[in-house]
This record gives sequence, C-alpha cells and structure tokens, in this order.
Amino acid sequence: ESYIQIRDFNFFYGASQALHNLQFDIPKEQVTAFIGPSGCGKSTLLRSINRMNDLIDGVRHEGDILVNGHSVFDPLTEVISLRKRIGMVFQKSNPFPKSIYENVIYSLRVSGRNKKSELDEIVETSLKGAALWDEVKDRLNESALGLSGGQMQRLCIARAIANQPEVILMDEPCSALDPIATGKIEELINELKNHYTIVIVTHNMQQAARVSDNTAFFYLGKLIEYGTTEDIFFKP
Ligand code: ADP
Ligand code: ADP
Repeated sequence: ESYIQIRDFNFFYGASQALHNLQFDIPKEQVTAFIGPSGCGKSTLLRSINRMNDLIDGVRHEGDILVNGHSVFDPLTEVISLRKRIGMVFQKSNPFPKSIYENVIYSLRVSGRNKKSELDEIVETSLKGAALWDEVKDRLNESALGLSGGQMQRLCIARAIANQPEVILMDEPCSALDPIATGKIEELINELKNHYTIVIVTHNMQQAARVSDNTAFFYLGKLIEYGTTEDIFFKP
C-alpha cells in the first residue's frame, strides 16, 4: 500500500534544476532509503515532502507530492500541521537548552497543551518509543545538552513521536555518530517501521542495505533505480 506519492516532480533552485521528473510511490509502514552520490538531490526531495524547502528564496517546483492522498502543496494545508504529521530528524539534532522533558513536548506546549498528567504520559510514551526512556527516566529535568550525540538523535525522534506523526523523515541521522550509537538508531528504525512510514537519506550503502525495505537510487537529480532493497542490493 503506497503512502507517499511523488508525481511528475521537478524542483528548481533558481535556474538550476535539482530534481527531474520524479514519479514513484513510497509504501506505508516500511523503511525507504534514498541513496546516491552527494548532490544528487536526496535531501532536496526529502525536504520537499514536508516543505522545508519553501523557506529558500527562488525555489520552485512542478508536479505534486501526496501524503496519505493529500497534496502537501495544497494551499489550505498549514505548514506547521504538516510538519507535525511529517516529522523530521536531521544529521545533528540541536536540542533546546531546556530539560529533556521540555524538549520532548516542546511543540505541544507551543500549541497550548499544558495539562501535566497528559504531558507526563506523552513524555514517557515518546521516550519509550524512541528507546531512550531507560537511560533518562531519572533525569528528565536535566538539560538535554548533557546527552550524548546518539541520545540527542533519539530525543529528536521522541520529539517527533510526541506529535503522533504518520511519516518520519531522516536526513543522514547517523552520519555524526559512532558505530555503537549508529547500531542503536538502526535497531530503533526497525521497531519504528511497524508504526510509521519512514524515509531515510543515507550516503552509507551498507546502512541502506541493513535498515531499508526499499531503496531509491538517485543520480544527478534523477531516479535511476527503485525497488525492494533485496532486489537492488542482493540480486546477482
Ligand atoms: P544530496 O542530498 O543528494 O547531497 P541536495 O539535495 O543537497 O543533494 O542537492 C541537490 C542539488 O541542489 C545540488 O546540485 C546542490 O548543489 C543544489 N542545492 C542544494 N541546496 C541548494 C540551495 N539552497 N540553493 C541552491 N542550490 C542548492
Ligand atoms: P501556505 O502555507 O498557505 O501553503 P506558502 O507561502 O507556504 O503558503 O505557499 C504559497 C504557495 O506556494 C502555495 O500555493 C504552494 O502550493 C506554493 N508552494 C509551496 N511550496 C512550494 C515550493 N517548494 N515550490 C514552489 N511552490 C511552492
């Protein structure tokens, strides 16, 4: 069952075209990896899905991206609510200089949810969902800036989970981590895919082979190969 549909999608930074005629579907509750050499457009496409690109001057797109049947470019779609439904995890997460607790429920506070019992429960569920609860449950009120790099990435995932997203986009989530922290994130991705549709950009082919169900290989802004990871990596 497809959950994200990319339709005749072109993307331009000014006069330079970064994506060419992309047309493919991303399945529900699986992990899809975007791979390809630096500059091939992986990030541009990922950021188009939750409209992180709209902020850049002079960008323009043609075609459409549908998530769960709805165009992300629908003028009636509020970008803020779109970004809750489509969470994003970056290469390096920069937690706010606030407690671990406040970092998880930051966007809930912004939208005016303040009931302590409710927030406590969301913090616990989200941190458990991000495989971080056991490590931080006794120091929820300590600054998030004291966490390790890998813990910060899982905190960022917990923050996404707190918004009850449909999709989680990850842009090189492990490239600043050591192998042990990377292993933990990869294990977590495996668990998360039962509940969320996940797209991960990675320059690490082995990582794509380890964590993804489907692989899209980009080259110079074009989709060169797309299929199950097994077919792409392991078929002779
Ligand atoms: P990847 O994620 O595969 O490394 P990107 O999506 O970052 O590729 O980049 C695709 C192309 O778009 C590259 O040629 C890059 O130089 C260009 N590009 C990326 N971001 C911008 C920007 N903000 N302004 C202009 N060009 C950009
Ligand atoms: P809104 O939040 O009301 O969608 P925006 O300023 O984000 O307002 O978008 C205004 C218009 O620009 C929308 O009609 C949308 O379809 C279009 N648009 C949004 N993102 C992009 C993009 N990355 N490239 C080109 N057009 C875009």
